[in-house]
Amino acid sequence: MKKAIFIDIDNTLLDFDKCAHLSMKHSFEDFGLPFDDSMFDTFERVNLSLWHSLENGYISKDQLFKIRWSTVLAALNVKADGILMEKQFKHYINTVAITIDYAKEILEYLSSKYKVYATSNATYEQQISRLKNADFDKYFSGYFISERVGFEKPSKEFFDVCFASLPYSVDEVTMIGDSPTADIKGGVKYGLDTIWFNHRGESLPDDIKPKFTVNHLKEIENIL
Ligand SMILES: [Mg+2]
Repeated sequence: MKKAIFIDIDNTLLDFDKCAHLSMKHSFEDFGLPFDDSMFDTFERVNLSLWHSLENGYISKDQLFKIRWSTVLAALNVKADGILMEKQFKHYINTVAITIDYAKEILEYLSSKYKVYATSNATYEQQISRLKNADFDKYFSGYFISERVGFEKPSKEFFDVCFASLPYSVDEVTMIGDSPTADIKGGVKYGLDTIWFNHRGESLPDDIKPKFTVNHLKEIENIL
């Protein structure tokens, strides 16, 4: 019998890719730098690879934020200050809230049947401000954001901290998220039922086995 849901935020409820694209465009404009949409691909590639390094424990979040934009700018051959760009980018990321299709509806549905908790590898203020901007904060019973938790998904310690403050056993909670590593591998290893939100039509490595896979958030209503 399920009683609670752990749900990821970025690219599960909020469209981080679209928010980041717009934030990059605004930041480049602020610095008087030329921007075209193809430049966002470079950001995505660098950013994804850095987050994978973080999930695997090779770098800290501080390091990620320190090198992210200098790496992107170098790859684009654009001369600008990576630290200042990170600051400007973060300013926009905090305010832009573009949601994933059906995110509001699935939160309404889930919160009417279960307690819903956000689980996210990010900075606390940023995620809360983005959820508020999307008018999503009213659906949550609590937030487990790695900056405050002190550990990142998929580590066992992240989930230990979550369960330490909740009255549920592991089999009473289902984990939903888009990241094969952070959400699914982490959830499965901890013993949670998992729903992988595969909205990009990706294929999974053999060692990652979600209990369920959905391509659209609406399909979750058939499972929970
Ligand atoms: Mg995500």
